[in-house]
Amino acid sequence: MLTGRYNISLVIVSLLMAMLASYTALDMAARVAAAKGRAAFWWLAGGSIAMGVGIWSMHFLGMLAFRLPVAMGYDLSITVLSLLIAIASSLFALWIVCQSHLSWRRLAASALIMGAGVCSMHYTGMAAMRMTPPIRYNPPLFILSVVIAVAASGAALWIAFHLRNRGAGVRRLRAAAAVVMGLAIAGMHYTGMAAARFPANTRCAMAESGVTTGWLALFITVFAGAVLSIALITSVLDLRLEQRTAVLASCLADAKQELQFIALHDGLTKLPNRNLLNDRLEQEIQNARRERSRFSVLCMDVDGFRQINDAWGHRVGDALLVEVARRLRASIRTRDTLARLGGDEFVILADVGEAGDAVSLAEKLLTAVREPVVIDGRQLRVSLSIGIAMFDGREQQQQGDLLRDADAAMSHAMALGHNGYVFFQSSMSDDAQTQLQLLHDLRQAQGRHELVLYYQPKYNTQDGAMIGAEALVRWNHPTRGLVPPGDFIPLAEKTGLIFQIGEWVLNEACRQMSAWRDAGHTDWAISVNLSALQFNHPKLIDMVREVLAQHSLEPRYLTLEITESTAMRDADTSLVILEQLHHMGVRISIDDFGTGYSSLLYLKRLPASELKIDRGFVRDLTHDTEDAAIIAAIVALGRALDLKIVAEGVETREQQEYLTRLGCTSLQGFLLGRPMPAAQFLEAVSVPGRTWERIGLLV
Ligand code: C2E
Ligand code: MG
Ligand code: MG
Repeated sequence: MLTGRYNISLVIVSLLMAMLASYTALDMAARVAAAKGRAAFWWLAGGSIAMGVGIWSMHFLGMLAFRLPVAMGYDLSITVLSLLIAIASSLFALWIVCQSHLSWRRLAASALIMGAGVCSMHYTGMAAMRMTPPIRYNPPLFILSVVIAVAASGAALWIAFHLRNRGAGVRRLRAAAAVVMGLAIAGMHYTGMAAARFPANTRCAMAESGVTTGWLALFITVFAGAVLSIALITSVLDLRLEQRTAVLASCLADAKQELQFIALHDGLTKLPNRNLLNDRLEQEIQNARRERSRFSVLCMDVDGFRQINDAWGHRVGDALLVEVARRLRASIRTRDTLARLGGDEFVILADVGEAGDAVSLAEKLLTAVREPVVIDGRQLRVSLSIGIAMFDGREQQQQGDLLRDADAAMSHAMALGHNGYVFFQSSMSDDAQTQLQLLHDLRQAQGRHELVLYYQPKYNTQDGAMIGAEALVRWNHPTRGLVPPGDFIPLAEKTGLIFQIGEWVLNEACRQMSAWRDAGHTDWAISVNLSALQFNHPKLIDMVREVLAQHSLEPRYLTLEITESTAMRDADTSLVILEQLHHMGVRISIDDFGTGYSSLLYLKRLPASELKIDRGFVRDLTHDTEDAAIIAAIVALGRALDLKIVAEGVETREQQEYLTRLGCTSLQGFLLGRPMPAAQFLEAVSVPGRTWERIGLLV
């Protein structure tokens, strides 16, 4: 028997090669598993070549490490065949690993097939030496080598399968697994070698004609090294690319999600917006139809929000809305939807099918919102006006109807004095119909000359002289008769018609005033009301200037009335507009004073010339000491700020006396003169220098 010796350095190199090949194989398995379509095919093909070459090189390095005291060579075709077997086994292994399931039975079968492949490669490689007499194998060691090959294959497959999708830390695990696998593969090889018995007269038939060991060594080192390096580098680069793509994709997905969120939610409260609400409502309707169930829609408006927003600014207003949203959210169940439709309007879709339960919910909401809210140290109080509509499964009940019904009911709740709830009734939708018809008519009113101005006289309290009139618009509707401004101005404001109407009013009032002036009433002035929208219109100043010029009316004849809440809504902007008007010579009156929240600081800076005490304080003046105290305070304030104080809504002698005594500078009201058309007005007050004294009204 010939005994061979091992070159230890080559053994170590072969062992390293086995580990490198194992690492490559594990890496490729992960790539194949992660890739799709064509890419998966190329990774499978490239991976099996790299892995096959790796295992095969390990095997031949091992053979090179084994030195027999005879010249050695290898049959080229058999050597190539052994390489092909290695590649084929690797292909099979990778294919198995990238399947979605790996049952024990399948693992066992695959381990057998792959083990057989590895053994075939090994013993085919041995056969490439074409030894004569042939190598004999020690049966137990041979069997052991086969067992090791099968077991190592099984372990390798199992590890590769389980490591293929791991995320973080996979490299270290893979390296550890590669060491184990490398040892197993080398173990099989060296057991196989140990099984080989070379008779004493053994000769290698390929010593001269075959591939020499030197060439083989060179080839293996260059070829295997290149293949494995290329495979690993490609894999690493591809992984980087993939990771970068993954990061990009996740950024894109995040951005998309955020955009989607923005499109469907309200920016301030993060509650669903109208779009999402419509969607949910549609789903809710479909569910309810399917399950023959009912649900409720609650429309809510925050009472007092506008005043707080006007008085304390948007920041406080926003904080208040966020808090109201939080309380509403806390009062409903998770499966209910709370949405904000903008401004101070909220909607709840509640899984509440009985009117009694809807009442409980509404009361719960009212209680939650009524609790004072403290913002920036200020204690604020608001309440809710709630309109409730129920989905009762009627075929014709649609998404839009429900919201419209709940909205109509909410308007009723507001009209009933806020802080309460109202269920929708079909008569309310008639109201909505009426509003639509009214709007339709209003659009044509101006063209048909249906708008008219009424004038209500204003008197001086000192000498009882008439000092002018307030122009109040009326709509002479063809079928409804005289429509008061309260019934159509809000509609005109909602639809923007107010700009045209407002311009007409100003024009007509100035025309009238210039006519009165020409008739000798040079001590009168005309008051014209401006709505908040008109006041904030960028062309307001130009419009006023043009109208005055058109009628050659000196600005002192014109007083513009804006409500306290309009003036204080955005106090800084108001200041700029009012200053321009003041500069022009137009007088400013703060209407409905006492109903909003004035900031004294701003009031001091406003270039106004009069405050008009709201009718509400005058009404019960003689019985209500609080109202009297408020009026006295306003008068004192007016004196301090050098403003005239007008009291409107004077209906009784007592009120007239009282207000005069309190120190109001002028009065206006039904007692002194109702609003009337221009012709009648002049008739009633045509006596030059007429005072209320002469009509027997002096205190
Ligand atoms: P306002 O500016 O506060 O006008 C005073 C309102 O009080 C008028 O109601 C007037 O008729 C009413 N009034 C006057 N004296 C008495 C009284 O002794 N007792 C009672 N109960 N009421 C009295 P009107 O004409 O219905 O106008 C209501 C509101 O509509 C006005 O309140 C004003 O804000 C607005 N408005 C009227 N005309 C116009 C206009 O041309 N443009 C704009 N933007 N708003 C207008
Ligand atoms: Mg007014
Ligand atoms: Mg008023």
